[in-house]
Amino acid sequence: MTNTSDEYTLTIRGMDCANCARSIESAVGQLDGVQLCELTFATERLRVATTLPREAIVARVQALGYEVVAPDANNAAVPAAPTAVPNFLAFMWSRLETRLALLGAILVLPGIFLHEILGLDALWIDLLALLALALTIVPVAKSAWRALTLSRQLNINALMTIAAVGAVVIGAYVEAGLVMVLFALGEALEGYTSSRARHAIKSLMEVVPQTALRLSTSCCESGCEERVPVAQLRVGDVIVVRPGERIPMDGTVYAGFSAVNQAPLTGESRLIEKEPGAAVLAGSINGEGSLEVTVSKLAADTTIARMIRLVEEAQERRAPVQRFVDRFATYYTPAIVVLALLIAAVPPLFFGQPFLNPDPETFGWLYRGLALLVVACPCALVISTPVSLVSAMSTAARNGILIKGGAVLEQLSKLRAIAFDKTGTLTSGRPAVVAVRSIGCVDPGAVPFAQCASCEEVLALANAVERRSEHPLAHAIVLAAEERGLHTRIPAAEGVQAIVGRGVIGRVAGRDVLIGSHRYFDHDVLHDPAHCSAALQDADAGHTPVMVSVGGAYVGTITLADTVRDSSRTAVARLKELGLAAVVMLTGDQRSTAERIGADVGVSEVRAELLPEDKVRAVEALKQQHGVTAMVGDGINDTPALATAHVGIAIGGAHGGTNQAMETADVTLMSDDLRRLPFAIKLSRAAMRTVGVNIALSIGIKLVFLVLVLLGMGTMWMAVLADMGTSLLVTLNGMRLLRQPRDEM
Ligand code: ADP
Ligand code: MG
Repeated sequence: MTNTSDEYTLTIRGMDCANCARSIESAVGQLDGVQLCELTFATERLRVATTLPREAIVARVQALGYEVVAPDANNAAVPAAPTAVPNFLAFMWSRLETRLALLGAILVLPGIFLHEILGLDALWIDLLALLALALTIVPVAKSAWRALTLSRQLNINALMTIAAVGAVVIGAYVEAGLVMVLFALGEALEGYTSSRARHAIKSLMEVVPQTALRLSTSCCESGCEERVPVAQLRVGDVIVVRPGERIPMDGTVYAGFSAVNQAPLTGESRLIEKEPGAAVLAGSINGEGSLEVTVSKLAADTTIARMIRLVEEAQERRAPVQRFVDRFATYYTPAIVVLALLIAAVPPLFFGQPFLNPDPETFGWLYRGLALLVVACPCALVISTPVSLVSAMSTAARNGILIKGGAVLEQLSKLRAIAFDKTGTLTSGRPAVVAVRSIGCVDPGAVPFAQCASCEEVLALANAVERRSEHPLAHAIVLAAEERGLHTRIPAAEGVQAIVGRGVIGRVAGRDVLIGSHRYFDHDVLHDPAHCSAALQDADAGHTPVMVSVGGAYVGTITLADTVRDSSRTAVARLKELGLAAVVMLTGDQRSTAERIGADVGVSEVRAELLPEDKVRAVEALKQQHGVTAMVGDGINDTPALATAHVGIAIGGAHGGTNQAMETADVTLMSDDLRRLPFAIKLSRAAMRTVGVNIALSIGIKLVFLVLVLLGMGTMWMAVLADMGTSLLVTLNGMRLLRQPRDEM
């Protein structure tokens, strides 16, 4: 007996509907020493936190009649390839219960046509129906008993068993057989459709090859190739990816040239040229060339593996609607039993109504009570929400949008305002240096900068500091210095520190080198009036000037230009079409630059010269003013604002850099194409609409049958058929979200 609490996940097989999941959850949850127990029907994963040994949990689940798939300790984190779903008949034939249900269905056929429809009575019809009942009731009754004794739950199986036995007692034999057979068939059908839905999710994992061709230098001089499981690869191994193959691991190209399609990760099928030194991601499809790739991450840590894990976890997080439905269903079943008892007992006891009258013309009240049990079966209601949310989330994932759970989906559908960071979000995030000016420039008229020693010195100084910075502007400055061969002239600065939202500072040869915004210099550093007005002009043109000082003395200005992406313009226009009240740009850049760029992308409002804490305040103001608000950012200095918004959206999960953001944001766009956003919002609205329709449909049909039964007009088997039909309908309706068409991009 150990006392340390352990958290792990088991895979459960053999659940036909979400009710099974609830039974298991409560049976395991009732064991002493289980702190947490959550079973997701959609992913078949049971998450437990417990002090009990694993065997105890497994035994409990098995006692309930379900199968536990042994987790492979080594491979658990590497997504396994999904197994194919058989066709419906093969599925039915694969299990004893469903085989019996099929046999039962054949046996009750004469009952339906001769007795229920034509109204004939014959002993052999009754006998066949009883035989059908006997074949199908055993598994149902067994499961009802287990749920009652192990989970202390009165579940649907119990309701059905009572109803069928009751029907036999009042002599409605055909009815009894039909109810049980239809119920068993319905469960099987539901099991089948949900395994199809599950398959759609797992097909996301098909993109990762399970083996790789490792180049080994140990066996011979020239090196030879051997095929090994990806789990055996270590960081630093070199693997060969042949033309047309999927790349099995994250890594860096070591040799070879090829165009690679990252669509499985980003949903964006655009070929990206890869050359030695370029990063490649597991799951992308190699083009024409053969690549040698140095592995940079273990199989369990690749971007796609993390993405799949996040999607799975997201499906396990329940949306508020779903929690409501779950709670509702818990109190619902016992309440129905009480109601059925009252209906069967009160009218005969107090109003002289018939109790035991199986005659279809004047049903007795016992029959109506029993029929209520059948009508009450909440299968359709329980399945209606998760199937829709899970389908929507996997469609999103296949398009490179990770949505972290049903609750986020719900918020997205209600979005009223959206705020964008400028740099790297609306713009390409790859600004370029377009001009350099310096004090002491020999030819100040020549811009971009002349072959002037003084201007080169400014760029070289800036490079020394910016090498230590992560900012997009810093990358541009370093790149410009490299292009001109200035990057080695001055060694990297020491003690480099970001002055968030203003600039960056570091020590070069004992002197402070400061690079910062014009506004910052206007406040703190005296600078050349001619350069000052030139900088203002640059800003009016939508460019970003940054100024450089050494030891507190102004030395020059570097002007950068970032380009607005076409996709951002389209995205903003579509977001407005979707009826968002505010589409706002937030930026630390100066007002004139920001306004120029804001007008270019078409946002409805620009807020400029914001420090990170001002961005947080701006998001709070939007929340106050408009309601549900999203913030979109690249996640570097925008983290507080992302966290403040109702929905924090990080972009560029597949572009390396801040993978951290992928983990913490509510939504991650794997590609930096913002046209994913209007799509995600439309998808979330469609999902919530579907949930609404499904809930209304499943409750509506119940109500209709409730009235019919109370009036003595509904039969039990019609009620079962209706429930089966509704379950199927809501499942198929939810699965339509798997095929949500994406706009032209
Ligand atoms: P954004 O909101 O556009 O992402 P930031 O808040 O990151 O902008 O930065 C605001 C301004 O501060 C920039 O426009 C730039 O003028 C200055 N700045 C910040 N970091 C740096 C840096 N590393 N090098 C030069 N300038 C910087
Ligand atoms: Mg930024």
